[in-house]
Amino acid sequence: MMDLMLSAQEKDFKEYCRKFAREKVIPIAEKYGETDDIPKELVAAMAKAGFFQLFLPEDLGGRGAKALPICLAREELAGVYCPADVTLAMQGLGSYPIFLAGNRDQKEKFLSKIGSGEWLTTYALTEPEAGSDVNGMRSLAKEEAEGFVLNGSKRFISNGYAADILVAFAKTPLDGNPKAMSAFVLEKGMPGFVVAKRLRAMAPHDLVELEFNHCFVPRKNLLGKVGEGFKIAMKTLDVFRMSVGAAAVGIGQAAFEAALNYSKKRVQFGSSIAKFQAIQLKLAEMATELDAARALVYRAAIAKDRGDSNVPRFASMAKFYATEIGFHVVDQGLQIHGGIGVIQGSLVERLYREIRALRIYEGTSEIQKLIIANSFLKA
Ligand SMILES: Cc1cc2nc3c(=O)[nH]c(=O)nc-3n(C[C@H](O)[C@H](O)[C@H](O)COP(=O)(O)OP(=O)(O)OC[C@H]3O[C@@H](n4cnc5c(N)ncnc54)[C@H](O)[C@@H]3O)c2cc1C
Repeated sequence: MMDLMLSAQEKDFKEYCRKFAREKVIPIAEKYGETDDIPKELVAAMAKAGFFQLFLPEDLGGRGAKALPICLAREELAGVYCPADVTLAMQGLGSYPIFLAGNRDQKEKFLSKIGSGEWLTTYALTEPEAGSDVNGMRSLAKEEAEGFVLNGSKRFISNGYAADILVAFAKTPLDGNPKAMSAFVLEKGMPGFVVAKRLRAMAPHDLVELEFNHCFVPRKNLLGKVGEGFKIAMKTLDVFRMSVGAAAVGIGQAAFEAALNYSKKRVQFGSSIAKFQAIQLKLAEMATELDAARALVYRAAIAKDRGDSNVPRFASMAKFYATEIGFHVVDQGLQIHGGIGVIQGSLVERLYREIRALRIYEGTSEIQKLIIANSFLKA
């Protein structure tokens, strides 16, 4: 049992998340259905239940942005309602750079409102020419006396339509390091910062393209020092990549449970299909693969919270394996449903579409494997 890896307190927290998902999120999911617009009611319920406090420092009343609770929460929310999981993830991705590199004023100003759910946030790294290759970034922040003038664009930004603020990364070339980049907090309404386009993905997602046209960013919105952006971006991904793995485990678990139940009810050749060994083999493989993925996710999170130096490798292993295996499990779960599985409105049909992007965002499976291999080759 994977619970062996969790303390009594962590098990209680996981149970709290499960109960919240069942009792509060399901009714909201039934009311709003598949939507690119994040329901305000969902944000309010998540804020009231304390989910966004996960990302706040302890001295601001938060839970210190610990990786394991973030993973446990995503595991329980993702299989129930994708917008709940993505909202939690983006509040985390958009606040962790501030948690990590922000000064006291920035933390009080931005994190308090993120924690209360008053502000939604996001993380803007990807650009048309900078996907896997972050250094291909073209956005440029030119330093002036009072701040920076930002020009460029961002693509595939989750929750970008709803977000009130966001952390954006841009090049700030330095003598001796022309690729240096910096991290900035941008606030909606800053002149020159526009949501240029909403994108429709195969599963509901608030996804946008952003443009910065001579957008002035005051110096007080710079996170850390000029040139620290790449480090801030990667350290943030170290935490949230493993949590993508957690979400994949949650979605896979939902598909497994649906397939298990369906197999007991569906009768063919005079008996439930669960009695056929071919179906039993599939169920056995799905359950084992999910446990293996979950173990990798928990290991990465526990290592992060203990300050282990192998976190980048563990995070990439968890993200790569859990998203690939989660997709495979959902596919097998759909197969067990037969034709019903591909009909719109069936749970596994939705899960099949929802899980696909997880193998791509926050670094594709191919990039995770390169990080894993390099961690051994460089050692
Ligand atoms: C639903 C969704 C939400 C997202 N949300 C956000 C967000 O909130 N913020 C944000 O900043 N970004 C976000 N992204 C962007 C995401 O992180 C990128 O899509 C991802 O990093 C891949 O970049 P790309 O799409 O440009 O693909 P590319 O980098 O163009 O890759 C194309 C293919 O080439 C492969 N490839 C590339 N380089 C190599 C290599 N060296 N070796 C082997 N294979 C390689 C890739 O694995 C992939 O299969 C989101 C994406 C999606 C789909």
